[in-house]
Amino acid sequence: MRLILLGPPGAGKGTQAARLQQDHGIVQLSTGDMLRSAVSAGTEVGLQAKEIMEAGGLVSDDIMVRMISERLDEPDCANGFILDGFPRTVVQAEALDAMLDDKHLDLQHVVQLTVDDAVLIARVEGRYSCAACNANYHDRFRRPRIEGVCDACGGTEFKRRPDDNAETMKSRLEAFFAQTAPILPYYEGRGILRKIDGMGSMDAVGAALDKVLAL
Ligand code: AMP
Repeated sequence: MRLILLGPPGAGKGTQAARLQQDHGIVQLSTGDMLRSAVSAGTEVGLQAKEIMEAGGLVSDDIMVRMISERLDEPDCANGFILDGFPRTVVQAEALDAMLDDKHLDLQHVVQLTVDDAVLIARVEGRYSCAACNANYHDRFRRPRIEGVCDACGGTEFKRRPDDNAETMKSRLEAFFAQTAPILPYYEGRGILRKIDGMGSMDAVGAALDKVLAL
């Protein structure tokens, strides 16, 4: 299955993509994670992306399209993938179509997660993850079973994203509404866009998503 999860930062794309990967073995392709790895590794792409990410802007279409095109050629994508954070502009959406055509692949679903802005900010501000295995947690909505210990791997070091704060979140939301939301009519016109209410609990949103995907 090949699908796109679309929605503003904090809508739950990463949470749901990770769950789909774990439960259904569909590989999660998070361009945000790829960029954060590039920044940590100090690669050329990482150096170009760092400041833009910290300011809540969008990294150039050229870089992003190349990154995804190369990633789709890796063997683990052969059985399908979930695009989490890509495409984020109409140029990226068009480039994705062209690359899927070239690779003789089609897209089955584009799912939009809708969440009120005030809730997005609260979700993003409290989130953190395990430094060892990247399992996601939240100060209010999802604490580890034992305080300070990762449920998934037992790790005791946690990290927060530098862009997960109220101020950067404003720029990230602006980028979403100005540059990413115009993608929606593009997929709506093709009849493959489905909307899901992302305001519910992780389990409720997960159940709604599985229903749309007929999993
Ligand atoms: P995310 O983890 O998806 O919230 O992405 C974190 C940051 O990485 C974004 O705020 C952007 O600066 C950058 N980014 C991730 N994916 C893309 C993309 N497809 N196009 C441009 N910038 C991106």
